[in-house]
Amino acid sequence: TPPRHVSARVAPLSSQLVLALVEDRTREHRVESIRRDFVANVSHELKTPVGAIRLLSDAVIDAADDPEAVQRFAGRMHTESERLARLVQQIIELSRLQGDDPLDEPLPVDVDDILKRAIDENSTDAAASGIDLVRDGTEGLVLLGNREQVAVAVGNLVANAVAYSPAGSTVVVAAKPGDTTVDITVTDQGIGIPAHEIDRIFERFYRVDPARHRSTGGTGLGLSIVKHVAASHGGDVRVWSVEGQGSTFTLTLPRKVPTMEAPQ
Ligand code: ADP
Repeated sequence: TPPRHVSARVAPLSSQLVLALVEDRTREHRVESIRRDFVANVSHELKTPVGAIRLLSDAVIDAADDPEAVQRFAGRMHTESERLARLVQQIIELSRLQGDDPLDEPLPVDVDDILKRAIDENSTDAAASGIDLVRDGTEGLVLLGNREQVAVAVGNLVANAVAYSPAGSTVVVAAKPGDTTVDITVTDQGIGIPAHEIDRIFERFYRVDPARHRSTGGTGLGLSIVKHVAASHGGDVRVWSVEGQGSTFTLTLPRKVPTMEAPQ
């Protein structure tokens, strides 16, 4: 068994009686160490684009006489600063999500709205990449949870499906009811995920072979946000994928099951 962290306080009440208070602080220690790891990772991830932008700005100054080089370096600075902006935005999103607990006050959320919004948000990127983005499945479902959190999670899944798919392919966003749950699935015909990487893709900052999709400029935070949203709703997220053929991500969330009208 892993070591447990305890703190003990001892107070003598009288010459015969001693009060000992022993607290198990294992959980606090774990939370604290996760927080420290996160801060260390964030610092590392932020330093990379910041360092690149600094070097590139020096290069622009040095290349002042060579307009073509200036153009090239400035273009790369633009790409790096966009990446930096995306990172900062996702880090803020993640820390905001960790602040509120959707199970404290689960509200009805219209699933059709969520799917439409995720499609809208990604339609420009999909069109630019020649990808068909379509909605399917059961309409009129209602889930229980936090609307903003669910919208961010589904938006991230659709953004990934679009980012990792070739031109001419289709991405399907669908909802399907279970007994007490709603399954939201995002299916693509993209590059897929190697079997030995599947367990790791939900980790913060983890990216499959970053060099291979440098062009997508991902941050490695999208799926850790999805996983967090699933867990905080008491649901889960699963993936089925075949390398070179495509992937299906399924986000399962609690459903608001319609109750029968009480007889008057
Ligand atoms: P990123 O910002 O890199 O997309 P994510 O946390 O969203 O970060 O995803 C982690 C990694 O999982 C990605 O870098 C990519 O390698 C892989 N991945 C996620 N979604 C898909 C998908 N639909 N098809 C193929 N690979 C994917």
